[in-house]
Amino acid sequence: MQAVDFYPFAGPELARLIPFTSAQAEVWLACQLGGDDASRAYNESVSLRLRGGPLELPALREALAALAQRHEVLRASCSANGCVLCVTDAVPALDYEDLSATADAAALAVALASHAADQATHVFDLLAGPLWRTTALRLAPDDHLLTLTAHHIICDGWSLGLLLQDLGQLYSAAARGEKAALPPAMQYSEYADAEALYQQSAEYRAAETFWRAEYADGGSALNLPTDFARPLVRTYASERFDLPLPEALVAALRAAGRQAGCSFNTTLLALFEVLLFRVTGQPDLVVGMPAAGQAATGLTSVVGHCVNLLPLRSHPRGDLAFLDYLQGRKMALFDALEHQQLTYGSLLRQLPVRREAGRLPLVAVLFNVDLGLDDGVAFADLHHELHSNPRGFENFELALNASGAGNRLTLECSYNTGLFRPARVARLLASFVHLAEQVVARPATLLADLALAPAPLPAAYARLNATEIPYPAAATLTSLIEAQALATPGKTAVVFGPTALTYAELNTQATHLAAALQARHLRHGQLVGLALERTPALLVALLAVLKCGAAYLPLDPAYPAERLRFMLADAEASLLLTSAGPRPGFAAGVPVLTLEDVLAEAQAAAQLPAQTPAPVPATSQDLCYLLYTSGSTGQPKGVPVTHQSIVNFLTSMQREPGIGPDDRLLAVSTISFDIAALELFLPLICGATVVLADGYTTRDGRALRQLLEAERITLMQATPATWTLLLAAGWASPLPLVALCGAEALPPALAQRLLPLCQALWNLYGPTETTVWATLGRVTGGPGPITVGRPIANTQVYVLDEQGAPVEPGTVGELVIGGAGVAAGYWRRPALTAERFRPDVFAGQPGSRLYWTGDAGRLLPNGEIEVLGRLDEQLKLRGFRIEPGEIEATLTSLPGIAQAVVVAQEHPPGHQR
Ligand code: AMP
Ligand code: MG
Repeated sequence: MQAVDFYPFAGPELARLIPFTSAQAEVWLACQLGGDDASRAYNESVSLRLRGGPLELPALREALAALAQRHEVLRASCSANGCVLCVTDAVPALDYEDLSATADAAALAVALASHAADQATHVFDLLAGPLWRTTALRLAPDDHLLTLTAHHIICDGWSLGLLLQDLGQLYSAAARGEKAALPPAMQYSEYADAEALYQQSAEYRAAETFWRAEYADGGSALNLPTDFARPLVRTYASERFDLPLPEALVAALRAAGRQAGCSFNTTLLALFEVLLFRVTGQPDLVVGMPAAGQAATGLTSVVGHCVNLLPLRSHPRGDLAFLDYLQGRKMALFDALEHQQLTYGSLLRQLPVRREAGRLPLVAVLFNVDLGLDDGVAFADLHHELHSNPRGFENFELALNASGAGNRLTLECSYNTGLFRPARVARLLASFVHLAEQVVARPATLLADLALAPAPLPAAYARLNATEIPYPAAATLTSLIEAQALATPGKTAVVFGPTALTYAELNTQATHLAAALQARHLRHGQLVGLALERTPALLVALLAVLKCGAAYLPLDPAYPAERLRFMLADAEASLLLTSAGPRPGFAAGVPVLTLEDVLAEAQAAAQLPAQTPAPVPATSQDLCYLLYTSGSTGQPKGVPVTHQSIVNFLTSMQREPGIGPDDRLLAVSTISFDIAALELFLPLICGATVVLADGYTTRDGRALRQLLEAERITLMQATPATWTLLLAAGWASPLPLVALCGAEALPPALAQRLLPLCQALWNLYGPTETTVWATLGRVTGGPGPITVGRPIANTQVYVLDEQGAPVEPGTVGELVIGGAGVAAGYWRRPALTAERFRPDVFAGQPGSRLYWTGDAGRLLPNGEIEVLGRLDEQLKLRGFRIEPGEIEATLTSLPGIAQAVVVAQEHPPGHQR
């Protein structure tokens, strides 16, 4: 700094030169490079609505002059070479306009908005100055609007607060004809000196080291989902979306933060970061936060550009509770503030950050809290109301400012209009509120479980997903079958070769077996491994396990022992039920019961009075079964399915494709397929008959066709492979059969061959994770692709882009399923669960989830879903899911696959025995 006492040129007297701080130099450079729009992005503009009395213009003018005298930067402009502030004695004039004749309220509102926009987008001449301006509008004799706008190169948020306070005091004194008793203000030159000194210090080097370490890897760019592609060259045009928060929510958020030992600022910041995490899915985020240099240096009354932008880096994770995340942020923020006196620009120069002309390096979004900006502001006898004016040009892709006082808080979100549509920003802020509500209610909620605000959906999805149908949501599968047994006790429930069980027999045997299992300490909530062939005893066993309030784990005895051992151990089954024979090698440490033994025991005990207390029945929220599907890591993963999900599924299937008491369904699927649940249970909830096919028959097309005919089967569900097997065995004349085909794509050629042979053909689609089938459609053979139809009852299907936004009908995206069938996640696999089961943003109900299938698909103009294959390398072979990474292992180990190969070799297509 240098005092100059002689200035040879005309114009205001030059009082002082203040070398730019590095932060100012960066603003200057940005304005030179980005032109007028970039410069406008640095405007700070606020208005005070002053009511309750006249505004004394002479007093205001006097106050403004005194204000300019008081703070040297208000008399400053920039030198042409952009390295010093030239302080003169110039005082800008007050612009005054009288709008009180504007009688029409609407016209006045328009005039005020355009005035605010004009002020906030004013292009300051950095060289000529002044770098601030004030306007006063007279709206009525006792109603005025005072607007103060300054360029960021001489002003920051802290300074605005000081200016308003000082102006209020100066005005009030002048209005009373007194002299204001303001203590002398510290000057910006003092701050600049302190900065220069600081840059030579060990602390400064420590700050550099801190930030360099923080970004040694360069950080990663935040990829906010945008509505428009990022332009090659940055644009600045922006708009602001304001959302006032409910006061009760603000109070609760403050309290929640306090309870966690965190300031309100930290709480808001953490919430914003969580929002970005949930919106982008990025576990490594950078959010810029301005830190006031006045506070850091102790030069608290300095007006000037004293702010540093702190690039706060965070690592949110789905499996972190919000509370833990928040507390972690407190420490991180503390560290960052300790090292705040380093400019963003000088940091950038030292970091290996990738530069792109279309993006800001490192910091794409800004977060700021402006609380109590008008604390201590008073204008004589006037009541004031503070507004910050949207500047219309913004440096950041998105800048969120939480502004207000006390519990009156408004989220002001400036967003780049070249990137975002207003609707997206509105939804983002709505999500902020939604997240706040959830963390206030349950601070320990995992970040993965926090729901975003419901997304607006294209109308086509609303039509597709209008599937709400009442169903017995409180019932269990057990209770439905028991009710059916009471209704039709003498009807045949199960047929297997020459044996048959009536509903009453099935139910009674199951009740007795349940008692015997109870006596063997099987309890509510436990899991029972079932390694049994498809016989009536299997059905008795399934029902008995469910009657105990336990759930079953289906284990195909033909599976490789290693896979079965893994499932049994991973599920932590309490018991393994098998058929008579040598003790299975895969049982590991699990107690093994032989079904025949327990059945005999049960029959004997049935003659005696009950020895054990009645079982605790399951509720609809309890597990019905745990089903393992192949896993991308090579290990199968369990999907827990509740009674409620299976009841919704079965009652939906009962309606469509439909089944009645006269139907005879042939069950052909291994119990290890989720689709077996339809075959075994659907007939039993409606008084129909399930005919069981043995393993041999299911693999022999000719035997299968004979069974279809002999048993007068009216309904069969199978994979395309099995239907192909039937055709290959010479099935040529029509059967009174409704054919359900699913688990793999239905080839059009197969559909064309099946259609004339059966009464109806349905294509069913769905992953195990959403309880058997999620959609279905009748195949008619008409023009157009084969579709999987529409969602089943209480089920939603969306086609989403990578960001989770619904794509327009016709566009390909990922099929994502919500509703009553979606499982809670993978059994004890939180990381995998977080990846595939995400909060249901459309339902907006905390806790409800969407399952991301990994299937590509689209919504057709006729309102049906077309599945277009996998987005990953997952394969389907004979209905088996083979995930990438285990293709080889599965091909050699899964019986269905091996058998498929064997069958194909033994009976080439067309072969007749
Ligand atoms: P899973 O969990 O074993 O039932 O396998 C579910 C996967 O099988 C789905 O995600 C689809 O990739 C595939 N899938 C099931 N049904 C169909 C169908 N009807 N058409 C096309 N793919 C299907
Ligand atoms: Mg399935």
